[in-house]
Amino acid sequence: MTHVGKRPIAVTLGEAERREFPAGVTPWQVLEAVDPAAKKETVGALVNGRPADLRRPLEEDASIEFISAASPEGLSMLRHSAAHLMAAAVEAILPGSKFAIGPAIQDGFYYDIEPPRAITADDLPSIEAKMRELSERRLPFLRFELPLEPAIARVKALGQPYKVEILEAIRDRSASRSGGPDLEGLEQEVDPEVEQVSFYSTGDFIDLCRGPHVVDTAVIRAFKLTHLAGAYWRGDERRPMLTRIYGTVFPTQEMLEQHLFRLEEAKRRDHRRLGRELDLFSVDDEVGAGLVLWHPKGGLVRTLIENLWREQHLKHGYALIFTPHVGRAKLWETSGHLDFYREYMYARMEMEGNDYYVKPMNCPFHIKVFQSRIRSYRDLPMRFAELGTVYRFERAGVLHGLLRVRGFTQDDAHIFCTPQQMAEEVTRAVRFSLYFLRLFGFGEYEVYIATRPEKAIGAQALWDEATEALRRSAEQAGLQYQIDEKGGAFYGPKIDLRVKDALGRSWQCTTVQFDFNLPERFDITYVGDDNRPHRPFMVHRALLGSLERFLGVLIEHHAGAFPTWLAPVQARVVPVADRFLPYAQRVSDRLRGGGARAEVDVRSEKVGFKIRDAEVQKVPYIVVVGEREETQGAVSVRKRGGQDLGVMPIDDLVVSMQRELDPVADVAAPSGSEGGGAYQ
Ligand SMILES: [Zn+2]
Ligand SMILES: [Zn+2]
Repeated sequence: MTHVGKRPIAVTLGEAERREFPAGVTPWQVLEAVDPAAKKETVGALVNGRPADLRRPLEEDASIEFISAASPEGLSMLRHSAAHLMAAAVEAILPGSKFAIGPAIQDGFYYDIEPPRAITADDLPSIEAKMRELSERRLPFLRFELPLEPAIARVKALGQPYKVEILEAIRDRSASRSGGPDLEGLEQEVDPEVEQVSFYSTGDFIDLCRGPHVVDTAVIRAFKLTHLAGAYWRGDERRPMLTRIYGTVFPTQEMLEQHLFRLEEAKRRDHRRLGRELDLFSVDDEVGAGLVLWHPKGGLVRTLIENLWREQHLKHGYALIFTPHVGRAKLWETSGHLDFYREYMYARMEMEGNDYYVKPMNCPFHIKVFQSRIRSYRDLPMRFAELGTVYRFERAGVLHGLLRVRGFTQDDAHIFCTPQQMAEEVTRAVRFSLYFLRLFGFGEYEVYIATRPEKAIGAQALWDEATEALRRSAEQAGLQYQIDEKGGAFYGPKIDLRVKDALGRSWQCTTVQFDFNLPERFDITYVGDDNRPHRPFMVHRALLGSLERFLGVLIEHHAGAFPTWLAPVQARVVPVADRFLPYAQRVSDRLRGGGARAEVDVRSEKVGFKIRDAEVQKVPYIVVVGEREETQGAVSVRKRGGQDLGVMPIDDLVVSMQRELDPVADVAAPSGSEGGGAYQ
């Protein structure tokens, strides 16, 4: 070691281990001494809990934890370092480029650049090749510091006006004391609190940066530049438009390839593209952004979901109700929506001297149904369910296909029960939800229980009891859950189920949410066995979230290939020539008679074309008929995905399809689903 003769410092590693090293030792040298095998996957260190370079000398006693490349902090360091490497490559290829900011982001990194000439996607391979070359040269990330004024002079000399602006903003801010210019979004570049400004050099490239960084460019191996976009400097449309180059980097090539595969898959499964290709739905500018038009096929899928939903709710002890789309201002004042939710509500309508609002939620109406007569403890629990269409104003910028819309139909329910029934009701709701989601092919979940926030209404004892009921329901259902500490709404704790789709992405669907607020506001009561009024527990519950959003998730999960029972067309009969059309029609009629949604492809196209088209349309059964089939009263069957089932008598096909036509055939109903409740 090179620091012989220096005073010793104590380095604490992990829980208990303490070792002495000479002052000036770097975390990298410490790691070499204690665990050289770990060097390969280590990219940084937490020194006294703060991220630091592995090369940064330690002058005082310190505790060290090492950061592996695969950890969230490690990935972020790797990605931010890759942004530098990319900037260095751009600088080498396009000297005179001006650099703005280059942060790590979810799944990758970007750098905003003002290039001397336009950069296009065609430039990305050469930038990537240059990055590879610089990576192979194993250039160290070297840190140096300058006081603020010399630092400003330095970035001016480098011809980097954006960096000058960042540093001047820091200078002006510390001078003005009262906050000064806003540094939001620049946190990865500089620490607004320090007097000394740090820089990092990699080869010839120097960048203003707070760090920390990986040891050298060779650590950045598994990377890929993905796309380009325009971005205003500091997000301000009056400022210059910069070129944002996006890339991603992972600790290993294998992880990178998995990620790129998932990106491709996500594109292939994009519900907006599939919605068009499969003719399911559209959004029309003349109708309005975020307002969905359901086409016949999408409408059919939705109807099938709604039918199943209603049938299952009746089976599980819910009552189906309908409530209006608008309500008087007075209702929304009592509920509090006009105070707390106004920004999401569509504007007031005045009729005959009364103000009305389009509903953003169904809850107040359900409460009114509860309140429409005196309720006894013998009536409880009451479970009101409604496919309730609501409208919420969302900014145009956040709207996204079916996933974020302005008008949508919630699969809503409100449960009113006594304190004694509460735990059982929550358990039932969670079980019902797991069962229902399984019917659509979802079997994996992320589960979150959100607890009391700082500002909340309702007695602590109520919160404790309700939160405990949520935990128990998750445990009884065998769900692994995480606690979202203080993440509940102000009016009650909740449990959220996020389904995992085929790509491992998770989507919020089910929520079961206590409400200690609305029962108070509307002063709802039931008569107890003591003949006195009591406040019921009220629970909001959705299984799917909304039909729009759920269909979006469903399309992406199945890549448009719905389970047979949900497919708009379940069998398409393809005659090999026009003269077999009458037979094709008879086959189709027979399939329809067996309960399948069948149709004949009557177009005078080549048979190969028609089969391909049926594949593109994700039709589960492609039924080909010609001379041989007609003489035998048979059909040739291909299943979606290319599996050839061969020639079979038509009745055999009808029989073998039956199970797939039944949505509940393959999923066991939840125990205790029948019976109980007030509506038998
Ligand atoms: Zn940096
Ligand atoms: Zn509600």
